Amino acid sequence: MQIKALSQKPTLPGDKIAIIEEFEMGDNTFDDGQSIRSLVVGTPEFDKTNRIAKINEMRRPAVAKSGDVITGNISALMNNMFAINILYINGKPTHSGLECICQARGAKKRILVRVGDIVTAKILNLLNGVVHATISEPELGVLFTQCNKCGAKVIAMGSNIKCIDCGYIEERKLSTRFGNSDFIKFNSN
Ligand SMILES: [Zn+2]
Repeated sequence: MQIKALSQKPTLPGDKIAIIEEFEMGDNTFDDGQSIRSLVVGTPEFDKTNRIAKINEMRRPAVAKSGDVITGNISALMNNMFAINILYINGKPTHSGLECICQARGAKKRILVRVGDIVTAKILNLLNGVVHATISEPELGVLFTQCNKCGAKVIAMGSNIKCIDCGYIEERKLSTRFGNSDFIKFNSN
């Protein structure tokens, strides 16, 4: 049984939410030896069956850390870099509008991605407020795309994609997971 706290006042980091005789630490809490306290701004929730107190974090800004794997759609394509609008961080949906930038050095002649492609990338670092990512590992890169000429379905052909309708062939940096139908749903909006 999950019981929401009656108070709508959010907890602040350090706030006492329960005593350790009654509850154990859940998400976003710590134990100071006597009490369970909040680590974050959020709403307490008490699982009385399992005696776990946790905090549902509020308005968590989407923060991508080094090593996180993100999935998103290509929002902009520049000369030697491209931007990804992040939709998922480590598989969890995010609606923050956070973007990351991938360098495409030495790839000017290659088409790695197109605007609208669904790609998976790994976060490298955050420098000056910009999130940098890479798609240069085998499992990273394009998960879903369409024919640039006619918009029909494409199939992988080595490092290229080929339209099953008009036959147009184009380069892409494909993920080894390209064509996995799990990702079709990302294209629905
Ligand atoms: Zn086509």
